[in-house]
Amino acid sequence: MIPYGRQNISDEDVEAVTAVLKSDFLTQGPQVPQFEQSICAVTSAKYAVAANSATSALHLACLALGVGQGDCVWTSPITFVASANCALYCGASVNFVDVNRLTGNMCPEALERKLKQAKADDCLPKVLIPVHMAGHSCDMQAIGQLAKSYGVKVIEDASHGIGGSHQGRMIGACQYSDITVFSFHPVKIITTAEGGVATTNDALLAETMAQLRSHGIIRNSEAMLRPDEGDWYYEQHSLGFNYRMTELQAALGNSQIKRLDSFIARRNKLVSGYLDAFKALGLKCVTPLEESHSAYHLMIVLLPDELDRKAIFDAMRAAGIWVHVHYIPVHLQPYYLKRGFAEQDFPEAEYFYRHCLTLPLFPDLTEEEQCFIIDTLRGLLG
Ligand SMILES: *Cc1c(COP(=O)(O)O)cnc(C)c1O
Repeated sequence: MIPYGRQNISDEDVEAVTAVLKSDFLTQGPQVPQFEQSICAVTSAKYAVAANSATSALHLACLALGVGQGDCVWTSPITFVASANCALYCGASVNFVDVNRLTGNMCPEALERKLKQAKADDCLPKVLIPVHMAGHSCDMQAIGQLAKSYGVKVIEDASHGIGGSHQGRMIGACQYSDITVFSFHPVKIITTAEGGVATTNDALLAETMAQLRSHGIIRNSEAMLRPDEGDWYYEQHSLGFNYRMTELQAALGNSQIKRLDSFIARRNKLVSGYLDAFKALGLKCVTPLEESHSAYHLMIVLLPDELDRKAIFDAMRAAGIWVHVHYIPVHLQPYYLKRGFAEQDFPEAEYFYRHCLTLPLFPDLTEEEQCFIIDTLRGLLG
């Protein structure tokens, strides 16, 4: 069976994790701050706050931006459910902005129309969460400028995109956003098993997220509200969580991040093999905007209307190729349908969903496997 995504674990990764197991700190040691520094170096953001998942990091990001009851957060319907759920965790409501049907990324024109209407109706969102689908950057200049002109904060969900760039800026640099979140789940670009990180250039946002990550507790005596009673003393200032990343996870991340460039180069090399083959077949692929270097988390093809996607999906799986579909539009999830969404609410997202098929793409995918995948798909296209 060829999976659609898979981690690459080296002997050095194993040694890095084992060394931590034999060290003094399994959590709250030096590995997490070191990993956060590496993330800053890669993204050129000023601050990074690591968490035990991207889902937690999205929750922390929403809270730091003040999302709460009575607020609304907008995201893309073509994403993993976590991009929307994070707003509900804060007691806010969720709405969606339709996507471009060829990229699955938030459509700036749809955003502009929706912002205009929301302003007229006095229901502008507090936060907007565009998602860099497949690792391909959204048009952040357009989205960021629109958000700014309507006074809306921005969290980029870059779970797919560590190491990617657009118009010469690294994803995560937060040029047009307040916070960017990355995921390190094993199918993503680099892994910490479970794990995520939030980057920002705002010291206060970073501090707030770091505090909420660890119970809302502070240990810095200058920030204390009561007199410091001694070395044991700490104060809880807000209702935080335990969203900490462990030292084992951060050690794996510190080891993985050294191979980030080679992972992305390998992914892009495999992608060009796919693109060459599919061009000859006239098959549409989801590709990045111009002036982008994508981390290429996912290789997605858009099957033509006349083909039965389910039949092709089933036949690929029967051949041992574990294709996937990214994503079921979030507004069509029963949980969201119950909250008032309906079919046809976001027609471009639904179009994308009906046509998309994710093919295997990960650094250890071999050329032979890729040939087999291409040949099998070619055979099914008839
Ligand atoms: C994977 C993913 C998440 C959640 O990441 P976790 O680290 O598993 O919590 C959120 N958003 C998107 C777009 C993702 O792909």
